[in-house]
Amino acid sequence: MRAIDSLPSSISQQKKNSTINIKTVPKDEVTCSNCQACCCRLEVMIITDTGVPSEHVAVDEWGGETMLRLEDGWCSALDRETFMCSIYENRPWICREFEMGSYECHDERAI
Ligand code: SF4
Ligand code: SF4
Repeated sequence: MRAIDSLPSSISQQKKNSTINIKTVPKDEVTCSNCQACCCRLEVMIITDTGVPSEHVAVDEWGGETMLRLEDGWCSALDRETFMCSIYENRPWICREFEMGSYECHDERAI
């Protein structure tokens, strides 16, 4: 899932003549920087303790914990302006396992 350090550098190597090449992301390239955090609308179960702040945790009637989702459908821990995870270091295990470019990622982007 989306991480600040996954963003591509906008500046590529500097040439000898001091001109700077700007690297742009092709529209069809799968990267978190051209995705509005589609995977952060999925139900995310919390199955290990990674330190998710309690205000982002929803508890069901059986005590099961998931990431709280707000009325707009996204996880409450998603920064709505940057579409980045605001609790990246403490994100649940499932979020850590969800790989950019994976089959599941392609599926979510297609919706
Ligand atoms: S769906 Fe894929 S590209 Fe989009 S934010 Fe999630 S991991 Fe990144
Ligand atoms: S915890 Fe972070 S990575 Fe996981 S669904 Fe929420 S915003 Fe996305």
